[in-house]
Amino acid sequence: MIKIIFINILRRVRFAPSPTGPLHIGGLRTALFNYLFAKKTEGSFILRIEDTDKKREVAGAEKYIVDALNWCGIVPDEGPGTKSPFGPYRQSERNHLYNKEIKKLIASGHAYYAFDSEEELASCRRECEKKGQTFIYNYSNRLSLKNSLSLSKVEVADLLEKGEKHVVRFLSPKDKTVKTIDLIRGESNINSSLLDDKILMKADGTPTYHFANVVDDHLMEITHVIRGEEWLPSLALHFLLYEAFGWKKPSFAHLPLILNPNGKGKLSKRSGEKNGFPVFPIKWEGEAKLVGFKEHGFLPSGLVNYLATLGWSPKEGSEVLSLEELTEMFQLKSVVSAGANFDLEKLKWYNHKHIQGAGNEHLVNELQALNTSAQETNKERLTEAVGMVKERANTILELWGLLEYLFFEPKEYDDKSLKKIKKDGLNKICSEIASLCHSLERPDKLVENLKLWGEKNGISMGQIMMTARTVLVGELSGIDLQKIVSFIGLKNVSKRTRVFMKKHI
Ligand code: GLU
Repeated sequence: MIKIIFINILRRVRFAPSPTGPLHIGGLRTALFNYLFAKKTEGSFILRIEDTDKKREVAGAEKYIVDALNWCGIVPDEGPGTKSPFGPYRQSERNHLYNKEIKKLIASGHAYYAFDSEEELASCRRECEKKGQTFIYNYSNRLSLKNSLSLSKVEVADLLEKGEKHVVRFLSPKDKTVKTIDLIRGESNINSSLLDDKILMKADGTPTYHFANVVDDHLMEITHVIRGEEWLPSLALHFLLYEAFGWKKPSFAHLPLILNPNGKGKLSKRSGEKNGFPVFPIKWEGEAKLVGFKEHGFLPSGLVNYLATLGWSPKEGSEVLSLEELTEMFQLKSVVSAGANFDLEKLKWYNHKHIQGAGNEHLVNELQALNTSAQETNKERLTEAVGMVKERANTILELWGLLEYLFFEPKEYDDKSLKKIKKDGLNKICSEIASLCHSLERPDKLVENLKLWGEKNGISMGQIMMTARTVLVGELSGIDLQKIVSFIGLKNVSKRTRVFMKKHI
């Protein structure tokens, strides 16, 4: 009997942000797709902090990234703080590993020391510019520059011994066709002569992004690299690095950009500001204070559901999905390469749907966290009120606007509504409401009584309802009138009527 053994390769993916500021929702979408892809097969989602460029690092950015991911439920299985043989997970804590690996590349002739000073390189650049050319440090000129390929072994040893400032460069092969494969975009061929000999280790002894990234993906046994499209131009170099080491390459997938609402350019903070939405998940309390989607009243589940549709779409008919459902349906192979326009109205639609699906108590907690007036109200009553209005809310903040009048009397009355109700009979209607508040024992029949009174006295029902609504809400909006009366009670109806009459009659 033939035995078939299925080897299930456990997926290991990573989200590898640089802590240079708050996490943009483009980065959040990358994290999400990595998470969905890993979780679909019980693989691991890893957070790696790429903090090799200390000049660009911003205090608080790493914490922000972790908080934002947690808020969305995209929780890493491994990351800073996790004890595992794959750690540490901050690149700044892994220099010993890069030092070990770079020696291998130098020994095998795939990398070399370069001692050229800033001034020497600047002068090379000027020379090229004069001739209308661009200076590229590679096969075409490296033997005439100051490096371990052009200098003798003794000279190199001497310079290193003296502690001469140097970098380590990758020896990019001449005229080699590098065939790259991307799971979303397919194959492409690049001639290596177009590439420069990229710096792998900087003069301060720390690695560059390219080197640390490839070494870590290998050492952390990453099976799939899923990242933003902006890294596509680096793919050929990364392929060459894997080949130079003799390492097995992970699979690569470069996600399409999230574009500004008009489809022009990558979604920017400025465009968000212009169109009234943030581009960050949660508030950022760095030097410049920024608010996020959370503070704008979006639920993480709504935001995540919408972000999942940027570049990918679940099968038709299943649009409103939880993180678990998205995980089940997600297919990396159906991610498209075309950029996706950010559409605030669509995001609101998703958020609306997630608000409908959320428990009222949960919505109250969210509302009270965002709105100080809501904190002053009784939680039980607020929960009841939220249940009555939530079907009209797109955001948590909108909930308050839809229910405020159930707790506070109107501060002012809308002009248009006043114009509609200021007719003969206004005084009579208000007086009847006030008198019913005294004669009735319970609020639940007030509207019915008003209707009967109107019929008897020849006052139109429309006029009565509009008047009562303006008196109680301040404008011609709000939930069913009897529900308002029952919620606020006869005493409050009477009080609001008196206040209104004082001002407008
Ligand atoms: N540190 C890079 C970034 O912030 C990661 C790129 C990658 O995933 O390879 O975008």
